[in-house]
Amino acid sequence: MPTIALEHVSKHWGATRAVDDVSFTVASGGLVVLLGPSGCGKSTTLRLIAGLERVTAGRILVADRDVTDLGPARRHVSMVFQSYALFPHLSVAENIVFGLKVRRVPRAERQARLGRVADLLGLGPLLQRKPAQLSGGQQQRVALARAIVAETPVCLMDEPLSNLDAQLRQEVRREIRALQRKLGVTMVYVTHDQAEAMSMADRVILMREGRIEQDAPPAEMYARPATTAVARFIGTPPMNLLPLAPGARGTVVAGTDGPVVLPAPIEGLLVGLRPEDLRFGPRGLAARVLSVEYLGADSIVVCAAGDSGYAEASAATTFAVRQPGSAPLAPGAAVRVAWAPEAMHLFEAASGRRRDDLLAEARRTATPA
Ligand code: ADP
Repeated sequence: MPTIALEHVSKHWGATRAVDDVSFTVASGGLVVLLGPSGCGKSTTLRLIAGLERVTAGRILVADRDVTDLGPARRHVSMVFQSYALFPHLSVAENIVFGLKVRRVPRAERQARLGRVADLLGLGPLLQRKPAQLSGGQQQRVALARAIVAETPVCLMDEPLSNLDAQLRQEVRREIRALQRKLGVTMVYVTHDQAEAMSMADRVILMREGRIEQDAPPAEMYARPATTAVARFIGTPPMNLLPLAPGARGTVVAGTDGPVVLPAPIEGLLVGLRPEDLRFGPRGLAARVLSVEYLGADSIVVCAAGDSGYAEASAATTFAVRQPGSAPLAPGAAVRVAWAPEAMHLFEAASGRRRDDLLAEARRTATPA
């Protein structure tokens, strides 16, 4: 039974369709991440669930109760914001129980809950400190504690880690995930960071321009992106999308004479290939190396398709190859790039839609790398 359900929810401000006919559910104890570029409607969706904004249309249910017309306090959800603003003049303990005090939870109960949450988050030794005496990560944990102490079954988080440095972000996101599982909290988590989404979520909902582009578990979103927008958002670097064009022997990457992707000449398609699925070798797509970026465990080699020189390299025909270790290649080198038939994805250029119907044929046509 879903704990959260959005049914055809929209939020418009004049001509701005911040959220446009969005429907999804979150199972009890599940963690769903709303992912997408800035301005795609993630925060607004979260604020609608919290009751901080009123819907223009649609219905919102929390724990099977229609909360569409209820104020935030009556929805029984807690929320952690990006700017978690702790009260500077209150101690850690006072900050954590502030909300309980406002809601007139009796003192003994407040102390009991504070003890539990402090243990859970390792905040015991810090309870008497002021926020200014804490590191960024510790402040973040206090903000989390403040949400958890409310003991609501639903917790909403809006980019809660954006003020932390990269290493701390990874640590705290693991902590949040572990805690969410341990407490069985149902969570909706907003981020624009695909790595954060992929590593934390049971399901990722990728939004674009107020609409849901794809709603799927992380592994499926990686393996079968529904649109080019999803393909461009997931993976570092993301999937390469190269335009195809009819050639002498069939449909090939535009500007090259092979390999043949589809035997029939078809216009208006893109082939999707992940950088980690591409290999340099004696056969395959002719290309020229534009740059090599050494990252330690692997290298990203940026190439231009076709054996023309640099001058003709355009963004459309540029693609990345992820090579384990260092790549003994210099800019200007002529290379051939191959991939396994099952590594191919096909999309319609105009609509961005995935074309699974053509994929079987393409995979039969391809010779294994
Ligand atoms: P995200 O969280 O994905 O960055 P938001 O949900 O904050 O996106 O915003 C979605 C769209 O709604 C944006 O175009 C934003 O400018 C607009 N928007 C958000 N809040 C308001 C508001 N209070 N009034 C008018 N437009 C808003």
